[in-house]
Amino acid sequence: MSSELSGRELPGRELSGRELSGRELSGRELSGRELAAEIRAATAARAAELTAAGRPPRLAVVTATADEASAWYVRLLVRTAVRAGIACDVTDLVPAEPSRPESQAATAVGIREALTALSEDPLVHGILLQTPLPGGTPLAELAGFIDPAKDVDGGNPTSLGRLMSGLPAFAPATAAAVLALLDHHQVALSGRRAVVVGRSAVVGKPVAQLLLARDATVTVCHSRTVDLAAATRSAEVLVVAAGRAGLIGPSHVAAGAVVVDVGTNATADGGLAGDVDPAVASVAGALSPVPGGVGPVTTAVLLRHVVEAAAASG
Ligand code: NAP
Repeated sequence: MSSELSGRELPGRELSGRELSGRELSGRELSGRELAAEIRAATAARAAELTAAGRPPRLAVVTATADEASAWYVRLLVRTAVRAGIACDVTDLVPAEPSRPESQAATAVGIREALTALSEDPLVHGILLQTPLPGGTPLAELAGFIDPAKDVDGGNPTSLGRLMSGLPAFAPATAAAVLALLDHHQVALSGRRAVVVGRSAVVGKPVAQLLLARDATVTVCHSRTVDLAAATRSAEVLVVAAGRAGLIGPSHVAAGAVVVDVGTNATADGGLAGDVDPAVASVAGALSPVPGGVGPVTTAVLLRHVVEAAAASG
């Protein structure tokens, strides 16, 4: 595809029910704040019912690095959980000497033991292993010790495998949040050309899988993709999760496309920037903001998963 096609119109399609195309959404900001508030309210109501029935929902968070962004997120999560009536315990397993491999290895053993104990604890319904992990240990290696029934952030490879097989499983909260945001804004997915930038096990791959399950035709791009702009311009629905501020500019996007920006990149002034240049809004049919798009929905979905796990545990 040549760069002359930048900003071209996407062909019209048949739509069903209340679905909208990118062009009909025309200029809409795909905010996640209203949806997150709706999910939190429904989750709080369900948590109150479960508590009244003697099964108060409880989330256990395991952290293992002194990463400041991670610590900030955990504080936010605990606050949001408690407001929704979900108890939230944090097990802090930061290595005693983070620079020493033996200390990191000991921490990995500690994480496995903590996840096994929490998986066996009947009072705990959801378990979240917070990243990054010491020594760059892949999440999947340790998250395999989380009982899939409590794997509310879909980190256990069993959860991802079940998702791919079309079996019930918790999807990673961020991936589920992307789909929830698209549904909330009534974005048509069946038969649409969807492009996902990023192939991590926590975002890119599960988002691609969930889009496929909704009958989109899905392309997954990554750092070795040749001519990223050509691939992304073919998208009617574009989901970007690369962790590179401003990676996607107006020339990467077809006119009228729906763009979901998952990226969260710290800026020099202490703010947050997405992977998508805000100037894309002038080309896209709709664009999710950062902050205020996928982020708040992710936290809300994670807590919804906790009450679902608690409800299923009885
Ligand atoms: P990750 O594990 O680092 O994966 C990044 C992916 O992007 C990789 O697949 C990588 O390709 C690809 N990529 C990197 N540079 C690229 C480029 N120049 N062109 C094309 N693809 C490129 O990150 P992640 O955990 O998936 O997270 C992605 C972003 O989402 C981050 O900004 C993260 O902070 C954010 N995030 C947000 C939320 C939320 O709730 N809003 C939740 C989780 C993550 P390779 O595989 O080839 O390396």
